[in-house]
Amino acid sequence: MMPVHLPLTLHRRDGDPAPMTRETPTRPDPARYARHLALAEIGAAGQQRLAASAVLVIGAGGLGSPAALYLAAAGVGTIGIVDHDRIEISNLQRQILFATAGIGASKAQAAGARLRELNPDIRVIAHEVKLGEANVMQLLAAYDIVIDGTDRLATRYLINDACVLLGKPLVSAAIHRFEGQAMTWVPGGAPCYRCLYPQSPDDLVPSCAEAGVLGVLPGVMGSLQATEALKVLLGIGEPLTGRLLVYDALSLTFDEFRFQRRVDCAVCGDHPTITTISPPKESRLSGITEWTPQQLAQELKNGTDDRLLLVDVREPWEWAAGRLPGSVHIPLGTLPQRTGEIPAGVTPVFICAGGVRSMAACRLLAAQGRSAVNLAGGVSAWSGVYGAPPPPQDHQH
Ligand SMILES: [Zn+2]
Repeated sequence: MMPVHLPLTLHRRDGDPAPMTRETPTRPDPARYARHLALAEIGAAGQQRLAASAVLVIGAGGLGSPAALYLAAAGVGTIGIVDHDRIEISNLQRQILFATAGIGASKAQAAGARLRELNPDIRVIAHEVKLGEANVMQLLAAYDIVIDGTDRLATRYLINDACVLLGKPLVSAAIHRFEGQAMTWVPGGAPCYRCLYPQSPDDLVPSCAEAGVLGVLPGVMGSLQATEALKVLLGIGEPLTGRLLVYDALSLTFDEFRFQRRVDCAVCGDHPTITTISPPKESRLSGITEWTPQQLAQELKNGTDDRLLLVDVREPWEWAAGRLPGSVHIPLGTLPQRTGEIPAGVTPVFICAGGVRSMAACRLLAAQGRSAVNLAGGVSAWSGVYGAPPPPQDHQH
């Protein structure tokens, strides 16, 4: 396979959003990067190239943590971090960007602070937003390469499609229990994630639960992602294109599966059906608003709560363990028969554990032509800011 050499300013076509203004990088500190400068494949020119590069790390989690740390250490001049979550104690088993003292803080902000601490010569941009159809093209446009460190399948397809449409190299990885997978896409005929897994899953999986994962596993996979990003930026070696790398931590084996571009791929095929990424259709999402815990608290404080009804759609045992004061309980499964309990003229604020089931509830109301609010991140996000809601004082259910 031929090495791919990518000029830094490629991938921007006429009509694309303007690249963000990058400060002219100062000459990289030769003391800091001595071990890079000693490599003929990098040297002063390569180090300067890294200083002029911009990498977007989507997800400051188990994969994004090592990837971002190594990219910052390597002297990548601009690193963007996309994450809308807050640090929870259960993250610390693998998300090495964060410390115990940071629990409750914004992941994007905390990651930015940690990376700047590691390397004050670089610029870190914290994108504290939830990646979606409405913002993905704009977010990616300003960067040279994208690292996908997300854990949602629907988001993985969205990032793949946006990268193919924008011509941005993409390094994907996924982790599950003791196994990791990785692949790289670069423009110019390489097969994409959709070529590998053509079926897009339903994006409405009603589960807030997470599978287990060996904490060090994403450390390996995220480090591989950083390796790939540096190689592509420097134009050295052979990227992991057309090859799915599978790492099994239990047997300590790396397997490689070759795959090819599909001529019928929906996004990179000869007759693609995905040619643009549009914001969600009005009809589907009209009337649905998302609030952060802070926004909800502000609305309640403003005294608008007589027009709001907090509706907890979790299961009875979750509800019994603690709920937001003033909320009523309508489990998601019973909501289709019970929407009449939400008075006309009142806007329901749907709440679940993580914000997924409550969004399904919002869509149900929207389908009836009513407006609804989703508490983004659910009780989990609320607890991260205001502490876990108390269990009920009474015995009603
Ligand atoms: Zn494809």
